Amino acid sequence: MDSKREQTYNILFARMIDSMTDLNDFDREEFIWLLYEICRFFDLSKGVTEFYDSLSAEKDGRGEIMIDYDDGRGEGKIAVFRRTVTPSKTVIKSTLYKSADSENLTDDEYRKLDLMLKAMLSFISRNRLQSVVEKLAFYDEFGYPNINYFSRELEMMNEKGELHGHTVIQFNLRHFALINKEVGRAAGDIIIRNYLNAIKERMGGTGLICRVGGDNFAAVMKNECLENVLRILAGFPVSYTPDGDKSIFISASVGIFTIPDDYVFERPGDILNKVYIAAQDARYEFKGPVIYYNESIIFEKERQSNVRRYFADALKNNEFKSFYQPKVDILTGKIVGAEALCRWMIGEKTVLPSDFIPILEQNTDICTLDFYMLDRVCKDIRRWLDQGRNIVRVSVNLSRKHLFDFDPTEHLLKIIDENRVPHRYIEFELTETMTDVKFGDLKRITSTLRDKDISVAVDDFGIGYSSLNLIREIPWDVLKIDRAFVPTEENYGVTELMFRYVVAMAQAMGLECIAEGVETEKQLEILMDNNCRIAQGFFFDKPLSVDEFEAKLNGFTYKVPGFIAM
Ligand code: C2E
Ligand code: MG
Ligand code: MG
Repeated sequence: MDSKREQTYNILFARMIDSMTDLNDFDREEFIWLLYEICRFFDLSKGVTEFYDSLSAEKDGRGEIMIDYDDGRGEGKIAVFRRTVTPSKTVIKSTLYKSADSENLTDDEYRKLDLMLKAMLSFISRNRLQSVVEKLAFYDEFGYPNINYFSRELEMMNEKGELHGHTVIQFNLRHFALINKEVGRAAGDIIIRNYLNAIKERMGGTGLICRVGGDNFAAVMKNECLENVLRILAGFPVSYTPDGDKSIFISASVGIFTIPDDYVFERPGDILNKVYIAAQDARYEFKGPVIYYNESIIFEKERQSNVRRYFADALKNNEFKSFYQPKVDILTGKIVGAEALCRWMIGEKTVLPSDFIPILEQNTDICTLDFYMLDRVCKDIRRWLDQGRNIVRVSVNLSRKHLFDFDPTEHLLKIIDENRVPHRYIEFELTETMTDVKFGDLKRITSTLRDKDISVAVDDFGIGYSSLNLIREIPWDVLKIDRAFVPTEENYGVTELMFRYVVAMAQAMGLECIAEGVETEKQLEILMDNNCRIAQGFFFDKPLSVDEFEAKLNGFTYKVPGFIAM
């Protein structure tokens, strides 16, 4: 190669290297030009570059074929340069041709051509790999944009100053596992696609939906589209057959964050976190299917995590106290029993069970608390016995949440016995819950306790999803009728009728019957009329501190209204 030609080659090579230095800016035109120049420099008649998505696509010839250069002088194949890009297994291949009438390449020329083409292909394939990586990084296996894509979109919107006036949502399709089971996976995929399309339509051609994972999605849209989108999320018939003759009703729970005008964007994760929290509340906390994010949600989460964090210390510091609410015989005004109710005393502050029990029920902390409460109650009873007071049976609440994870009876009995409390003074209250299907376990636990002379009560009867089976199948001693079922003047009619039959049924089955939440004289009258003799409620007393309760243990009698015959 003479020096002038060598120089031309060097310039061409330098230009090629130059265009490769910026990996992020792959300029296709530049490469087409380069290949054109290379073909001309080496007097080639044609150069073809092919891209295939996989080895089998290459075999079948299914790919993108680019003819980069063809001067029409006919062909004699001289070289094939081929690279497979891992891990995607895409193939990139350049084939070069030389016309029969042109001179053959010298060895030196061939080496130079070889070097150039290999460098080029390697660069293009790296670039190609990048786009494959991009595809993997920004889309999920169904081709939906994923959370990375979504984050990038939020970042770009922020850079362009477009975030304000937008709302971000995260939604979960309800019962989708069941729907998938019913219609099959393939139809399930069609349902998702059609549902998302319906939502997209309501987003007026702007915005973005991405798949967060499984049947969870996130979307960003203009504020004014939200109302229409929510209509679809509330429930929409989605067809899943080609001719649209079969459809299924799909709805979603949704968390919403409308970006406030004074919102300071830090990172996409902050926005995603907010909708995630609201979406979780919508999905799991039964606070309604649509939850708007606001700062009080964060406050609540913080409170919950504080409860969990301080629980162990609070136990150690004896901050949980047992309060006692008397159960009263409404004929005589005598205290015939009491319910132990937990109070968390933090300094001067009293925290009620509704503020911490549901949180402790999320893990087995509640069992620890229940055992602790039983121990305190037993210690109180033991002391009363030693002081020679008149003792009544005390009931302790047991959370049903974890009752079936392990059998608690042995431990309960151990606590009672270690405190040397006669079993007849203890009763356990178990609420009926909707997930309560393990009748067998429940029956074993109640039977074991009853065999040991310990009473068991169904708590809150009437408000849960109790079935009559629960009453028939499980050996109870006591039925506590929830206060929602105790008639008041306002809800007299049907409630009174139901109350009457529940009491009659309980009595016919030999169960002791207690009405909870009795607050008025009128209610006492109704109890009397219906033969429900024991009541617990503010009419008599609120839950009392141990000192207050103790003071009433020796023969205290409540004044029962005059109309009650003695
Ligand atoms: P529960 O077992 O049904 O207890 C009765 C609840 O009704 C108590 O609320 C009591 O203060 C309240 N109450 C009593 N009389 C009246 C009335 O006349 N009117 C009204 N409006 N309310 C009345 P509290 O003490 O806030 O306890 C709430 C729930 O927390 C209890 O419902 C029980 O399920 C649970 N709980 C309390 N202590 C414990 C415990 O140590 N362990 C477990 N697992 N749960 C507990
Ligand atoms: Mg109770
Ligand atoms: Mg109750």
